[in-house]
Amino acid sequence: MGAAKGCVMNLGLGRLGAAVSMCAVVATCLAVSGAHLRYLQPKMVAELAKAASQVEAGSLEEADARLDLVLVRGKVNISLDTARLTIAERVAAEKAFADAVDMWRQELGDDVTFQVVPQEMAQVRFRWSDGQAVGGRCAGHAVWSRQVWRAGEGFRSDLSADVELALYGSDGGNLPQESLVQAAAHELGHILGMDDTGRRGDLMGPVRPGRPVSQLSSHEREALDALRSEGKELAQVCLLQRLSMSW
Ligand SMILES: [Zn+2]
Repeated sequence: MGAAKGCVMNLGLGRLGAAVSMCAVVATCLAVSGAHLRYLQPKMVAELAKAASQVEAGSLEEADARLDLVLVRGKVNISLDTARLTIAERVAAEKAFADAVDMWRQELGDDVTFQVVPQEMAQVRFRWSDGQAVGGRCAGHAVWSRQVWRAGEGFRSDLSADVELALYGSDGGNLPQESLVQAAAHELGHILGMDDTGRRGDLMGPVRPGRPVSQLSSHEREALDALRSEGKELAQVCLLQRLSMSW
């Protein structure tokens, strides 16, 4: 179990020591390296490492449940709480969210599905503040939790998150639409396991009105690709081992 949080304007540095050694667990060498760690949440890298150890130990169901979290498999059910907003604010917020989802679709194709659902069905809740920037200087803020637990004979996993986004800057002025999109895409990035970088020009860096970021930087893309390709490789090993056991 673990909850974590991130803020679009916060510099999420100082976690580079969370290196996890996991190579040589499967036949092909795994690809997440030290250079990628500054872009990935240590917890997510740890989940990948645990899954690798569990594959090696033959705990395939538990490994598979962890890989659900690493790969964000299945649909991610998200509610958009815009009830307190004016019509114009609601249009801006919903458009920003839709554009952020589109951005991720361009990055990941159909690999991950973000789906808007009613609040009672949501595992992730997006909420837009009708006041000034969240927490004084944030364009967005997220708290998330990922868990794997034993359920009967098997294992289950759960991802949940609460996201709050601002519509106005700390000066009270409207944040530009492109900044709203970046902030929403940034928070979806946290859900996918990316960490704050503090680097200008990164999606997971600070939102700078007038200098919006509309795609991952090459470093971010490389790190996420490494995480996901390792996760997929392990999932494949899990599948093959489970199939061979059922023969
Ligand atoms: Zn953040």
